[in-house]
Amino acid sequence: MKLNNHFLELKDSYLFSTVARKVREFQAANPDKKVYKLSIGDVTLPLAPAVIKAMHDAVEEQAHKETFRGYGPELGYDFLRSELVNYYGKRGVKLELDEIIVSDGAKSDLGNILDIIDPSNKVLIPDPVYPAYVDVNVMGGRKISTIAGNEANGFKPLPYDGLDADVIYICSPNNPTGAVYTKDELKKWVDFANSKNALIIFDAAYESFITDPTLPRSIFEIEGARTCAIEICSFSKIAGFTGTRCGYTVAPKELVFDGISVNALWNRRQSTKFNGTPYIVQRGAAAVFSDEGMKQIQENLQFYRDNAKIIKEGLNSVGVWSVGGENSPYVWARTPKGMKSWEFFDKLLNEYGVVCTPGAGFGENGEGYFRLTAFGDREVTKEAVKRVIELYK
Ligand code: PLP
Repeated sequence: MKLNNHFLELKDSYLFSTVARKVREFQAANPDKKVYKLSIGDVTLPLAPAVIKAMHDAVEEQAHKETFRGYGPELGYDFLRSELVNYYGKRGVKLELDEIIVSDGAKSDLGNILDIIDPSNKVLIPDPVYPAYVDVNVMGGRKISTIAGNEANGFKPLPYDGLDADVIYICSPNNPTGAVYTKDELKKWVDFANSKNALIIFDAAYESFITDPTLPRSIFEIEGARTCAIEICSFSKIAGFTGTRCGYTVAPKELVFDGISVNALWNRRQSTKFNGTPYIVQRGAAAVFSDEGMKQIQENLQFYRDNAKIIKEGLNSVGVWSVGGENSPYVWARTPKGMKSWEFFDKLLNEYGVVCTPGAGFGENGEGYFRLTAFGDREVTKEAVKRVIELYK
């Protein structure tokens, strides 16, 4: 018996566990010092009342023989898929019900999608980036190359002559940088992918943070995307489902490689290895799109957007180079005095009691940068920013 040796190629420590360990050590050594955390990208506000009500009602249904539901459709209930069709439709993106496959979250889909992709493909991943893209490909022994985000391209790398790829990951609004591709920029990726017969895996987990109507919230707002892209999205950030778990993948019918439909393979993969997202959760997710639910989640999103503004304005007040914070819950900033990311992290934690996420943990181009998140409490955000900017004075 041989285990999958590729797991041994994974980097030892996952970024957030190292951050958590350092914070634990600091707290143990300084039990009376308050720590201001603007690090991990988890939401902090509770689920919207409309979502809770829908889930309570669904629990009640499960309590009675007449309304009880057992196994559901593996690919998601139509009541949720049709809400998603409407949600996209409002932005002018026409989808068919069976182009949307509901899951228990974007992270699962980002990993599981590799089941339908041949290991021989060349995978292109932006750097810095959400670490899971790299790790799932390392586990599968895939050949990975990176494309650099940097200040010159505003952390939005674009295709260039001579670039080669079969599978391309794009995350916009980006985690960790908060950078958001414009329609023209995404069009360049779509044209590149179509010309190479490549697949774009578009991660739209943060689409709900986009308020600028000129910016694309879905890759399918771009002409030509239906023949080269799938979109993976989540209820985690739009509606605080990080602990409740619901996501979905959009696989258009026109997406065909060598005569084989991506939608058909993904359907087959999901119905073979997944038994569907819980009914109660899908009822909660569908309630996000009711008038009341949408109003409530927009209030929550606005709270986070205001936090992002506080962070951004604080950094701007001392002239720090940063990106994100608008149309995104993340702000990505250059460390002071050329400090390395982890050096800055340690100084910020040990001397100022603030926790950021070191940019180097997201890839080599993240060195010299750090990420702050807008998902914190208001008072924590204000105090943390006040302390961060002290380091630039
Ligand atoms: N994609 C990106 C870019 C993320 O930042 C995250 C979570 O932070 C996810 C996907 C995972 O989303 P989910 O909670 O739906 O698994």
